[in-house]
Amino acid sequence: PFNPIIVKARVQTHARLKRQSDLLKELAYRDGLTGIPNRRRFEEWAEQELERCSRIGVAVTAIMIDIDHFKLYNDHYGHQQGDQCLINVARILNDVATEQGTGVIARYGGEEFVGLFRTQEESDAIQLADQLVKRVNAMCLPHAKSSTDPNVSISLGACLSGNPGLNNLHDLIKQADDQLYISKTTGRNRAHVTSIEVRGAS
Ligand code: GH3
Ligand code: MG
Ligand code: MG
Repeated sequence: PFNPIIVKARVQTHARLKRQSDLLKELAYRDGLTGIPNRRRFEEWAEQELERCSRIGVAVTAIMIDIDHFKLYNDHYGHQQGDQCLINVARILNDVATEQGTGVIARYGGEEFVGLFRTQEESDAIQLADQLVKRVNAMCLPHAKSSTDPNVSISLGACLSGNPGLNNLHDLIKQADDQLYISKTTGRNRAHVTSIEVRGAS
């Protein structure tokens, strides 16, 4: 026997469960503090993106970002304002990524961020990297204890992988991290970009 009341109740239950599971998935993919994608989301997406790009012959750039003198920021302004600083930096990085439209930036952990973008030319990668550094500094969030700049700044490392190029996300991020280290040791508030081409790779 067909009871419309029971059918309706069951449909409603299923709809509610679907909404709840979508919400849980959404929460599991977002960084709790800043609201931008988290590392888990980034890694899942980036593995697939890297595969797509190598299949269709598009070069990609991996980016690592670290806020400068952030321990001193926390020590001076307090942890709560430190959190607010992270939120502001995350928002501007995410804005630039959205405007750019060819990649994603996520919170990697602590005061570090990671990104992956489609960038055919090295000049595109350099322009994007410089823009990210400038836009953060241009927010003019005061950092009284920074020996680099009166305002909050980031250091950035990027690695453009040509085609054929590196198709292992871990290796690509490692290369970007090495460039970040160069930015840190050559003055901070700057970007360092390298390019690699892997001959004979597919
Ligand atoms: P450098 O310029 O060399 O990167 O120096 P730094 O001080 O930024 O680097 P360090 O690794 O010494 O300090 C990172 C600081 O980031 C220490 C830690 O307390 C802070 N931090 C990490 N996660 C959070 C967070 O979620 N909220 C706040 N407020 N601070 C955080
Ligand atoms: Mg750090
Ligand atoms: Mg730092």
